[in-house]
Amino acid sequence: MKYISTRGGMAPQSFSDILLMGLAPDGGLALPESYPQISRAQLDAWRGLSYAELAFEIIRLFATDIPEGDLRDIVQRTYTRAAFGTDDITPVKTLQDGIAILELSNGPTLAFKDMAMQLLGNLFEYVLARKGRQLNILGATSGDTGSAAEYAMRGKRGIQVFMLSPDGLMSPFQRAQMYSLQDANIHNIAIRGMFDDCQDIVKAVQNDHAFKAKYDIGTVNSINWARVVAQVVYYFKGYFNATENNDQQVSFCVPSGNFGNVCAGHIARQMGLPVARLIVATNENDVLDEFFRTGAYRPRGTANTYVTSSPSMDISKASNFERFVFDLVGRDGDAVKALWRKVESGEGFDLSDKLAEARDAFGFVSGKSSHADRLATIRTVDAEDGVVVDTHTADGIKVAREARLPGEIVVCLETALPAKFADTIREALDRDPPRPDGFDGIEALPQKVVVFDADAPRVKAFIEETLAAV
Ligand SMILES: *Cc1c(COP(=O)(O)O)cnc(C)c1O
Repeated sequence: MKYISTRGGMAPQSFSDILLMGLAPDGGLALPESYPQISRAQLDAWRGLSYAELAFEIIRLFATDIPEGDLRDIVQRTYTRAAFGTDDITPVKTLQDGIAILELSNGPTLAFKDMAMQLLGNLFEYVLARKGRQLNILGATSGDTGSAAEYAMRGKRGIQVFMLSPDGLMSPFQRAQMYSLQDANIHNIAIRGMFDDCQDIVKAVQNDHAFKAKYDIGTVNSINWARVVAQVVYYFKGYFNATENNDQQVSFCVPSGNFGNVCAGHIARQMGLPVARLIVATNENDVLDEFFRTGAYRPRGTANTYVTSSPSMDISKASNFERFVFDLVGRDGDAVKALWRKVESGEGFDLSDKLAEARDAFGFVSGKSSHADRLATIRTVDAEDGVVVDTHTADGIKVAREARLPGEIVVCLETALPAKFADTIREALDRDPPRPDGFDGIEALPQKVVVFDADAPRVKAFIEETLAAV
């Protein structure tokens, strides 16, 4: 399997080559030349597999340049009961109203990001060792990505992590999760500013090509193709867990920000998984909902991006959306290039002539949820089912309840546990969310973090000093 760019300007490359690549050289995102097609016989054979076995069967179709024995070992070391809490890894529970919840947040940092990031840590370590290379990851986080990356990369040979976060803006629980890590290869940098200031510093360093090359700077952001592939696996697993046989169809409802999670659902559907619809749920930052209602894609600047109580979806420029649009315009790289030129000029684009196709051929529909909807959903699910859901998952359930058709099996993806967002849970339920074992008192642990102004040269100097001492 070879990979090409959504903007048509990259010679085909192997999985291991694109694994360590951020954007493609032409500014696009990597995608396989074609999606592997799953036959009914394969689907039947896969229904009884364990999560790790299923992950191996799916990922081997995409990572064809990793020897099968090595890949099997990597996948089996990743998807364990020890890391994800159950043998099933992603169990399904059904609410009283029939909506199924696919649990994706039982990993080390209590958000679905662990599902892919844990694999990425092991893949990076393997590929770096094989190539005799080092990687210094520079990332920016508003909360969940940073902790998932740090827990996946801690202690890994050949890897250092420099993670920027907005000083004082994450929840105390999220701060404690990241800053209490004492591993020698994990470096937390709190920036006096907002998430976007952190992101700008990452971009400034990425654009300093000499610095980037000299210090082997890489990223783990959600455009990384291996993260998308790892997420494809749980759509298959969720399908098997929510159905009795392979004649049934399901629809997935996905709380969305950067479009990475639902992009994996799109790929699973293109591979032949019996998915009826993909329901995109947004919060008040509803750029994606607007697109699937009107065909207009109008990314917004940070001044027009709201701070909400489902903060991991406070995104108004959905990077992975480009992968879906590539398929929507018939895999025409030149067309995508022209569309994203308009995005970069701040204009956005209009694909209303493709809207029916997005819905009918690709199954996409959407809905949105507000703070009041979120609180109401958390309350009703707690009252009816005795389950406390997090704010992002609540957005998904709200949209799923509205969108569901008679007889439709809807699986809603749980993207985090409520312990991460205690303030809003208290606002909804007047009590603290349940806290999983092992997290008691983490706020009191010693923290390792440096605090800088939003100044790219200061961050670069810190990276240089730190690497000189490794
Ligand atoms: C990252 C994240 C999302 C959004 O996922 P995308 O892949 O960016 O669409 C939703 N909920 C939570 C809790 C997250 O951490």
